[in-house]
Amino acid sequence: MKENVIKRVMASLKCGVCRQRYEPDNVTVLGHQEDLWFLKVFCPACHTQYLVAAVIKEGEAPEVITDLTEAEWDKFKSAVGLTANEVLDMHNFLKDFDGDFFRLFGRE
Ligand SMILES: [Zn+2]
Repeated sequence: MKENVIKRVMASLKCGVCRQRYEPDNVTVLGHQEDLWFLKVFCPACHTQYLVAAVIKEGEAPEVITDLTEAEWDKFKSAVGLTANEVLDMHNFLKDFDGDFFRLFGRE
């Protein structure tokens, strides 16, 4: 699937903080593993930056697995021992990951 399609799909979601709808330009694609996409989303209204893992299929609403603010992401990085460069190779991590983000982050 093309990145501009992903950006359009993600722009249908709203910011978890202020409920502002994202614009396609606010979405950066970091990588993907089949239908699992790893994205950076910036809210133009409240300036919160999220790192989002979502299952995105063409013609379907995205299924957001997790959206983390930068502060949460810092915690996540130290929890799994990732360096900044490895973050960009996130799809390799996700390939071996069982998908249970909630267990990983210890929150419901
Ligand atoms: Zn916002």
